[in-house]
Order: sequence, then structure tokens, then C-alpha cells
Amino acid sequence: MRLSQYFLPTLRENPAEAQIVSHRLMLRAGMIRQQAAGIYAWLPLGYRVLRNIERIVREEQDATGAQEVLMPTIQSADLWRESGRYDAYGPEMLRIKDRHDREMLYGPTNEEMITTIFRDGVKTYRDLPRNLYHIQWKFRDEVRPRFGVMRGREFLMKDNYSFDIDKAGATRSYNKMFAAYLRTFARMGLKAIPMRADTGPIGGDLSHEFIILADTGESAVFCDKGLVDKDILGRTIDYQADLQPLVNEWTSLYAATDEMHDQAKFEADVPADRRLTARGIEVGHIFYFGTKYSSPMNAVVSGPKGESIAVEMGSYGIGVSRLVGAIIEASHDDAGIIWPESVAPFKVGLLNLKIDDGAVSKACTDLYTSLKAKGIEVLYDDRDLRPGAKFADMDLIGVPWQVIIGPKGLAAGKVELKHRATGAREELVLDQALARIGA
Ligand code: ATP
Ligand code: MG
Repeated sequence: MRLSQYFLPTLRENPAEAQIVSHRLMLRAGMIRQQAAGIYAWLPLGYRVLRNIERIVREEQDATGAQEVLMPTIQSADLWRESGRYDAYGPEMLRIKDRHDREMLYGPTNEEMITTIFRDGVKTYRDLPRNLYHIQWKFRDEVRPRFGVMRGREFLMKDNYSFDIDKAGATRSYNKMFAAYLRTFARMGLKAIPMRADTGPIGGDLSHEFIILADTGESAVFCDKGLVDKDILGRTIDYQADLQPLVNEWTSLYAATDEMHDQAKFEADVPADRRLTARGIEVGHIFYFGTKYSSPMNAVVSGPKGESIAVEMGSYGIGVSRLVGAIIEASHDDAGIIWPESVAPFKVGLLNLKIDDGAVSKACTDLYTSLKAKGIEVLYDDRDLRPGAKFADMDLIGVPWQVIIGPKGLAAGKVELKHRATGAREELVLDQALARIGA
């Protein structure tokens, strides 16, 4: 992409309405624009990142054997009356009437809908387990939308639903998601801490929140440092195998959030040199809730003896749009965003320091063409601007690698390569620079 033609409305000043760094940087980097409280339009740069995050989420969901569907955003009130949640849900639900005065709503989540889809399609235990997910916009009329996309009213969520014949099966489904979540967040360069979560009035069931560490997070985190140091990406996960040992390994280390935090237990469980107190952002939540929806909504299958069995269900959410902000919270500096390569909007920023210099511009165009031919996403700053402005913009938008070409270096056969994350700069011949960025 040529920057001279790209829709990238960056801002020099810090927008007054943004209280936290990710919100500021997303506005300044021209990624989003607010349309109403907690409702955002995604501009080209922001949308690229959102899609990259979505792709990683999808790949890791698919790896578990889950199947992707797409359910609508608008649902009928009657559907929610079946589970009893229509009246219970409260003012966070956006209630709508159509032209025939039928009550509708903008879905805040999809348990009811997926339960009816399952109920109509599966009749026997032989067809279990089933695991379906979608990535779709949700609406929750949050009392206080804030922090940009971190707590929006309209936001993109991945929600997955599992259906099993018994608790043992549901636990297997739960464990698959647990492992998939660890990998999903690690691939985005994030340290996700699985925290045992409150299961509310149903009680006794299983639930974990996945919290990533960032100073501006809304939750307090008390955990064993060992959790932060653990690696999951080096491992291959066989989703057909028993994943309980893996889950046990991660849940045996102490981790808690504010509400559940018990100072005495933390100190008893974790030696002083391994205690970590930090702040975090909830990016995912997994939940096993048994027959909470299948019983009232009659999602039953026939068992081996012909008996009717209400299916055991779980639901598993990831805040896809929240992750864009969360990654920035975890990875930025004074100059701007530092994207992990896996989610970066472009891998390489190419800076032409003198566009009216024929040799420089030819070197840039050649490199731009060859990187594109290799399938490497490159943003070419071919604008007629002074170098300082180009450096500032490229640092702000956080592209992982910058290749800087100017007349002096070029005369010596060199380009400058800058690594955004470390700030390291090197003068290299072009081929060395390309090798360094893995091109
Ligand atoms: P929170 O406690 O942050 O309000 P929640 O527990 O209500 O979230 P879930 O129902 O568990 O949210 O939704 C699954 C995921 O969707 C959350 O882990 C979070 O990452 C994301 N999410 C929830 N609410 C919002 C929101 N208002 N804006 C952006 N993402 C959200
Ligand atoms: Mg939650």
C-alpha cells in the first residue's frame, strides 16, 4: 500500500476524550472513529488488525475441531422468553420493535439461539459431541462505555458453544477451549493468565477468565510468576488426547482476581520471590454451565437406552475487538504502538526519505514491488513530507520493521533497518536487511 493513497487520518494531538493509552493511540493512528458512545467505525488500518486477530482466533478454534457458523445479530424476544432470560437480562439489552410491533433485540450473546439450532438438528447421543462457534458483533448497552473498543457497546466477540452427553464429555470440551485459548493469546504476543472465575448462582461448575497483564487493566491480578513464564507455543496440542494434565498444570499455580483474592492464601501458596501483583484485562471467558439452557429449552437427545437426556453445555467467549486495545495496552511506548508481527497491519514500513531523488525512489519502488510479490505486507511512505514526520507516523502506527532509504546510504549501497520493538537500527545492504526481516 502506498501511504500517499492510503486513508490514514492520523492525529498529532492527544484526543481529550481518551483516558487510556490504547484509546489515544487508536484514535491518533487513524484506526477507529467513534460514531456514538461505545460504537466505532473501523478505518483501514484498524480493520486490518481486527481481521488479523479474528484470523488467529478462527485458526485456533478450527484446530480444536469446532465448526464455524454465523448467527444473526438481531434475535426475537420470544427466543429469550424460552430460557427465561428476556426479563432477567435488564437494561444492557437493546430492545427493538419491528414494523409489525414484534419484539426483537440486538443479541448480547447467543446461548438461546444456538440451543434452538442444536435442538432442531441433533436428536441422538450418537451425534455428540458438537461444538459450534461464530464471530459476530454483539450489543450490550453498557452503563459506562469507556476506554474505546475495550468497553464498547457494540463489540466483536467470538462465542463458541459445546454440546455433550455428560459431564465428562463437557469437561473434555472445556479443556479443549482452555488449551486453545492459551495458544490463541500467546500467538498474539500476549501473556494470558487463566483465573478461576466466579460461576454465580449456578455454582459448582467450571469457569475461567483469561486475563492479560497491562497496567491499565480493570482487574487486579495476584498470581504465581510461574504462570507468566510458562510457554504454550512450543508445544503441539493433540486435541484428541486427554488435555486434563495440561489444564491441571496451568491451574495448579496460584492465580486470582481482586474479588476472590485472599492475601493469606496467596502468601501461603506462593513463595515471596514468585509472587506477582499486577493489573489485567479480561480478554476471554470460558464457562461450563450444564443444562441451564438445555433443560428449559428442551434441547434433549435420546440416550443409549432410549431415555431423554438434556445436553450438557458450555460457552466460550473471546473479546475480539477488545483485544485490539488490549494488545496496545500491553505493547506500546512513548512514540506509539508496537505491534506483535502476528497481528500487525503491515509487516514492513518502507520510508522514502527523498522522493524527488530518482535513485532513491527507484530503489524504493523496486523493493516495494518485490516485497509485494513475495506476499509481504508493506506500507510504502511515498509522501512528499520531511523525514521527521515520516519517522513519527511509522513509529505511531507501530509497523514491526522499517526499511529507510535515503540518498546518503544508497550511495554507499546501504539501507537502514529499524526494528520497532527494540529500537535497534542497522545500516545493511538490502539483501541482509531482507534476510533479517525474513523476506
Ligand atoms: P466484562 O466483565 O469485561 O464486562 P463480561 O464478563 O460481561 O465482560 P463475557 O460475557 O464473558 O463478558 O464476554 C466474553 C468476552 O467478551 C469478555 O471476556 C470480553 O473480552 C469481551 N467483552 C465483554 N463485554 C465487552 C464490551 N463491553 N466491550 C468489548 N468487549 C467486551
Ligand atoms: Mg466474563
